[in-house]
Amino acid sequence: MGLRFDVITLFPEIIENYCSCALLGRGVKNKIIEVNTTNPRDFTHDKHRRVDDTPYGGSDGMVMMAPPVFEAYESIERLENSEFIMLTPQGEVYNQKISKELAQKEQIILLCGRYEGFDERIRLGLKPREISLGDYVLTGGELGALCIIDSVSRNLHGFLGKDNSAVDDSFSEGLDGLLEHPQYTKPREYRGMRVPEVLLNGNHQEIEKFRLNERIKRTKERRPDLWEKVKKKI
Ligand code: SAM
Repeated sequence: MGLRFDVITLFPEIIENYCSCALLGRGVKNKIIEVNTTNPRDFTHDKHRRVDDTPYGGSDGMVMMAPPVFEAYESIERLENSEFIMLTPQGEVYNQKISKELAQKEQIILLCGRYEGFDERIRLGLKPREISLGDYVLTGGELGALCIIDSVSRNLHGFLGKDNSAVDDSFSEGLDGLLEHPQYTKPREYRGMRVPEVLLNGNHQEIEKFRLNERIKRTKERRPDLWEKVKKKI
């Protein structure tokens, strides 16, 4: 069985649609990953099927209620090597290192918020690992869950197929954690822009040297913070 993602979401169709297309769709078909959704609305007990209510103490917006989320979470079979993640702008900021770490898991449960976020008791009672996509606020956690599903899946054996490789992606160990070098494909010349000569001469040592220099140059220019971290390795 492949890596199993269980997404707790009020909008399962967002997850299901994205995960049925392109490489993720193929990953599901080939059983490299499995993607399930659980909707907290199916765990309500009132006739309006309410999942949100106004915040105590007053303020704008609605808050996701604890009971349907607790019950949705508890309905999911928990595998042994499993991680439970809450998507929140207040969490640790997601990166490639975390994605590699998560790829070692058997199951990842992803909890998506909506409205103004979660009743605090969801965090206190279920003790998730809290992950943020970055310092900006989205309308819901689904895009965060999809970013995690997508990026973690790329690390799984067989997911990219033989024509693709995650080894040469930006931030990867194969590139010493640097940003990736620029890539070119046909035609050789387009609107006056030519493919660098060195990439055409078939000398692999020279090509590797050129690419490493480009990776270093790009990382220094675009991500001085990243360069400070990785420069000792180069
Ligand atoms: N009021 C909350 C706050 O300021 O922390 C933000 C709530 S946001 C409008 C609704 C939901 O979107 C959150 O519960 C979370 O699941 C998701 N979300 C928004 N921004 C996010 C981010 N940067 N990273 C991960 N999830 C995010």
